[in-house]
Amino acid sequence: MGLTDVKADIVSACKAAGRKPDSVTLVAVSKFQEADKVEKLLNDGQRVFGENRVQEAEGKYPPLRKKYPDIQLHFIGHLQTNKTKNAVALFDVIETVDREDLAKALRKEMDKQDRELPCFIQVNTGEEPQKGGVAPKDLPALYKTCQDLKLNIIGLMCIPPEEDVPDLHFALLAKLADELGLKQLSMGMSADFETAIKYGATHVRVGTALFGDRQAAA
Ligand SMILES: *Cc1c(COP(=O)(O)O)cnc(C)c1O
Repeated sequence: MGLTDVKADIVSACKAAGRKPDSVTLVAVSKFQEADKVEKLLNDGQRVFGENRVQEAEGKYPPLRKKYPDIQLHFIGHLQTNKTKNAVALFDVIETVDREDLAKALRKEMDKQDRELPCFIQVNTGEEPQKGGVAPKDLPALYKTCQDLKLNIIGLMCIPPEEDVPDLHFALLAKLADELGLKQLSMGMSADFETAIKYGATHVRVGTALFGDRQAAA
């Protein structure tokens, strides 16, 4: 597909949903993609990127940032508490806050580094044991903890189970966000970002439709 096609699809999905095209942010997921492919997208004007491993992003992004200081980097993977220091130093948004000890570790690091990163809470809408994210029933308590810690929670994020039709998961995430008064929804990937926009996604995380297939996991 590529950037032009994905952007056009976002615009038409917004139109179909009666939404403004600029109400959706494209997060280009560059995990396992070479830096030169990222740079090509930067040349074409893309600035928001997502990575799911701290170490990989640390290798790729600092040199790119020197040339493009306005890159905005989202962390979208499982964040180990012992990686919060490096994550807070490198990333601009953390999309995957999913437990109390991580929320506390992030608070501590943000204070230390005097950096306040907007965060999403990741919700495990499919309640899959192997997947990150807080169970829907535990979300209100985690959100309360984050508020007490004064973490800047701007919305919710989910990764629906691969074998499910995503609609119910997107609808559930939208409902949960609405109940908490949260405005941002990070949902939808290459296969289903248009559906996610229909359900109110404000951030779509698109990898292969932009970059082509990923290199085998390093
Ligand atoms: C890899 C990944 C994506 C992008 O997936 P594609 O199917 O390549 O678009 C989106 N979100 C998360 C959390 C990912 O890990």
